Parts: sequence; C-alpha cells; structure tokens
Amino acid sequence: MAMPPPKVPFTWLLFKCKTIQQFKQTHTQLLIRGLSHPPPSLRPTVSFAALNPSGDIHYALRLLFQSSTPPQIFLFNTLIRGLARACHSHSMSTSCFVFYRMIDLNVFPNNFTFTFLFQGCATSRDFDLGRQLHGIVVKNSFALDVFVKNSVIQFYSVCGKLRDARWAFDESLDVDVVSWNSMMSGYLRNGEISEGLELFDKMPNRNEVSWNSVLSGLVNFGFLDDACRVFKEMPCRSLVSWVVMISGYAQNGQPKKALALFRGMQLLNLEPNSAILVSVLSACSQLGALNHGNWVYFYIQKKCVNVDSILNAALIDMYAKCGSINLAMQVFHLSKEKDVSSYTSAISGLAMNGRVLCACSHIGWVEKGFHYFHSMLDDHGIEPELDHYACMVDLLGRAGLLEEAENFIASMPMKPDNVIWGTLLGACRVHGNDQMGQGIGNMLIESDQSHDGCYILLSSIYAKTMKGDNAEEVRKSMRAKNIERVPGYSLIEVDGVVHEFLAGDRSHDKTEEIYTAWEEAVKKIKNYGYKAETRGVLFDIEEEEKETVIGYHSEKLALAFGLISTEPGSVIRIVKNIRICNDCHSAMKLISKVNQRKISVRDRKRYHHFEGGSCSCMDYW
Ligand code: ZN
Ligand code: ZN
Repeated sequence: MAMPPPKVPFTWLLFKCKTIQQFKQTHTQLLIRGLSHPPPSLRPTVSFAALNPSGDIHYALRLLFQSSTPPQIFLFNTLIRGLARACHSHSMSTSCFVFYRMIDLNVFPNNFTFTFLFQGCATSRDFDLGRQLHGIVVKNSFALDVFVKNSVIQFYSVCGKLRDARWAFDESLDVDVVSWNSMMSGYLRNGEISEGLELFDKMPNRNEVSWNSVLSGLVNFGFLDDACRVFKEMPCRSLVSWVVMISGYAQNGQPKKALALFRGMQLLNLEPNSAILVSVLSACSQLGALNHGNWVYFYIQKKCVNVDSILNAALIDMYAKCGSINLAMQVFHLSKEKDVSSYTSAISGLAMNGRVLCACSHIGWVEKGFHYFHSMLDDHGIEPELDHYACMVDLLGRAGLLEEAENFIASMPMKPDNVIWGTLLGACRVHGNDQMGQGIGNMLIESDQSHDGCYILLSSIYAKTMKGDNAEEVRKSMRAKNIERVPGYSLIEVDGVVHEFLAGDRSHDKTEEIYTAWEEAVKKIKNYGYKAETRGVLFDIEEEEKETVIGYHSEKLALAFGLISTEPGSVIRIVKNIRICNDCHSAMKLISKVNQRKISVRDRKRYHHFEGGSCSCMDYW
C-alpha cells in the first residue's frame, strides 16, 4: 500500500531560504499558490525578513503594513526587535513609528515591546527617547517586569547615566543576576572600578557573564594583577576568559606573562581560538621570540585554522619583527585576505628591515615598499592612512633619500604628524644632514613638548656639529620639562624561555657564568683592536644609563648569556627596547667574527645583523 505524502506546511519552504532573494521568490510562489491553498502565515515571513542576518527589514515593514490580516502583537514586536538590531540611523524613528502605529490599531504593547525598544535605544545611544519610554513604562507598571527592568538598567548604563541606572536597580525589589551584571558592567565600562567591584562582591549569584565582565573591566583599565587574581579565583574559565587575560597581557606590555599563560592553557589541552593566537603572536613580536612565533604558524597550518586578515597581519608582523622579513613577505604573498592591517605590517616590516641587504639594494627595498603602497589603492581600493605614510618616510629616510622623503611628506593629502617628522629627523642624524635636521628638530620641539626622542636627536646633531652650547641648551630644557627616559633592557629567547637583562643586571641565576663569559669575550676581541669605552659618550644616541659602566649594557649581558647557553654556530637573537650604543655595536661586530656566530639585534629603530665582523646596518643607525 502506498504511503500518503507527508503533510508539510508550505511556509516551511521559507525556512530553507538562505538569502533574501530566494526568500522573496519563494514567498511570491506561495502567494500565487495561496489562490488554491491557504496563504502563508505572516509569522515566519515577517520573522525571517526582520531578524535573519540576510533578511530585509524594509521588506518586513511592507509585509506587515500591507497585510489585511488582523494585527498581532507578536509581529509588531518582531519588527521592533529587528529594528533594534539593525542599528542604522533611522532605525529608532522607525521603531517609534511602529510603536505608535500599533497603539493606533489598538494593539497594546507588552513587556517584550519595551524590552526591544530599550535595546534599540541602548544600541543607538538614543538617551532622550529611552528616557521618555522609561516614563511610559513606570506609569504603566511595566517597570516591575524583570526583562523590562534589566533592559532599562542596561540602557542607562550603556548611555553612561549611572545614577539613573542605579536608581532603576535599587528601586526594584526582585533583581536577578542579569540586573546585577548590567549594573556592574555599567560601572566598569564607565571607569568606576571600585563601585563595580563592590557590586561584584555583593552579588548573591554570579554566572559566567559576571566573572568575565569583571575580568575584562579590570584588564581594560590595566589592573592586570587584580585581573589575574580574579582569573585564578574563577570557578570555571571559558575561552572568553582566556582571551581577555592573554590579550590583556599582550596589549599592556607584559608579553612574557601572555606566553606563560598561553603555555598554561596548552597544559590543560585547551584549543586556542584565533583571538588568542593573535595575542600570542603579538607577544612573540614584542619579545623577538621567533621559536614561539614559528610554533604558532605551524599550529595554524596543522589545525587548518582559518587565517582572517587580523591573524594574517599578526603573522606578518611577527616574522618582520623577529628578523625574518623573507618569511614575512611569504606570508603576505600567500594571504588571501589582504586589508589595511596586512599592508601596514608588510610595509613597516620592510621599513624596519630596510638595511638587511647590502647598500646597493636599498633602492630595491624602497621600490618594493612603493609597489605595495600604490597597490593598496590601485589594486585593492584601500586608502593609505597616516601609518602607511609614516612607514614610507621611514623607508626613504633609511635609504638616505632625505629630499625625496621631504617631498613625499609635502605631497601627503593629510597633515603629517610628529611621528612622521621625528622619523625624518632621525634619518637626518644618521645621514648627517644637519641643516635639515636642525630645522625639523626645532619645529618639533616647538609643537611637541612631551616626546624625548626628538630632544635627544636634536642635541646629538648639535653635539656632532660642535655646537656644544646649543646641545646643552636642548638637554637643559628637556630636564626642566621632566622628560623621562625609558630604562634600557634586552631580551633573549633560549629554549623557549625569554630572559630579560637590565644594564649591570645581577639577578639572573647564571650571573657568575655570564659575567665570566663576557670578560673572556672582551679579552679575545681586544686582540682584534677592540678598545672598551670607559666613559659614556656624552651625546650618544640614547645615552643609556650613564652611571652604569658601559661595559655591562643589557645587550652585552644578553649576548654573553647567549654564548654560554646556545648551540655553537646557531644565531643569537636579541631584542633591545632602545637603540644600541656605539660600544656595544663594535663589540658585537668583533664577537661575531671571533666566535663565528651570527648575532641579530633588533633595537628600537631597526635590525643589526652581525656576521664575520661587520653589521648589516653598515654602521649607520
Ligand atoms: Zn651599549
Ligand atoms: Zn648595526
């Protein structure tokens, strides 16, 4: 006996649609069939058009207002909900229109209507409308409903009106965990940390949202130690908590802690998501930790992680900053999704490594940089931003094309900022164009009172051109303005662990061996003509810790540690936060020859690849 065909409601076909075009076609078909069958119900049609990400809110509005069926509250609420999500400039005025239309048609709003309206006001930050609605809600006793109440608290706190939010919170008798969370994250979002924490302590019940809100609130304000305590106390950590904590460390200059936490995550066999990988790569870039960075790249390939433009840019940046510009460019060429951030990473990577190759190919790098710079707009329609212009000035400046750099700045469509002028000033010092340098330096000092770099550069230009008095003047005004120096430190990654050294540092476990190794290295290179400088060069580039004996600068200690703890013949990679000084530079050149080791030092400005007694920077930096 034949089975009867299953009775599938026709409207079910609408749910199978993936795009609004398919949906409209199917809908038209159903309306035509409606001549012989009952017409499709408005409910699924309006829901799809109003709420589906590929829907069309205007289509939903037409469907509802042109329909002859009796108006239903559900349909009006669906529209208001869709409008709240749509968040375009007219969505709230359209919401009001729908709201008044339903009242005209004698359809009375319920708690959902108001909840969605407040959500819309919060998303579009429409404080005036939200406040009027609050009046209506209070008059009509809807304020007692827990959904409405929570959306009111959320609305006020998103708009930064914490007193109103608190009033709504305090006056209700029964508040649930959502109300507590909304109130607490309102405080945290608006920077009222202690109030937020007080509420967190008082909360009768906490859920995952409560913990993560307090965690990210603390991280966003840089209270990383407190955040770490909260993280440890959490009854269960979701992926979000790991993302917040690891990216918090990476973005607040604590890359070692970011990597340590990431290792902790791996020990628990938790799979990182792409946000975590981006943060880990950023930590690797900061530390110059190439081995860690490589690991992430292999992991991405092994697990077939989808490489979006952000992850892609982070990979390029990591390779460029860890001294592997060729790998960086390889990732850049292989990437499917190139956007502004990939270009920024690629161009600034090229700029930073602009002196990797010998002098004759400088122009080659400049051309490569300009090729990418132009292809941003020409091939990808991406308008270059200030950052990209700064990179190009850097690239030109490093290649010694100072006039070209000056002309390039003059041709910029926007006003050059002090970073761009500072870059050109640095190039003037390196290439000995004192006249241009003094002009720019004085202009910068007049416009910018807080940046120490340009004071140091200008005073060193004066010192070099024997205008000692002028140099002293610049230094005095710098001291008078209390411009602080950053202390110098060097990092070296050995067997996956990053070691940090300060000048004259004696805190490392192997201090004795490190200092002995350094003395031995100095003894050897003295035979090759090394004369240790016993006093700081007064107007040297960064004038690192003048009181510390120059013989124990941080990069020297890092190098000595590298010599005793890495395989003979392997590359020693060091990252320094400020520029390398003359004395360290000459010592490194000789050690690379005597010990037959390649040494790469990334300082604040660029790469130094030491090999066989010379440096890739050709002694200009
Ligand atoms: Zn030094
Ligand atoms: Zn160098």
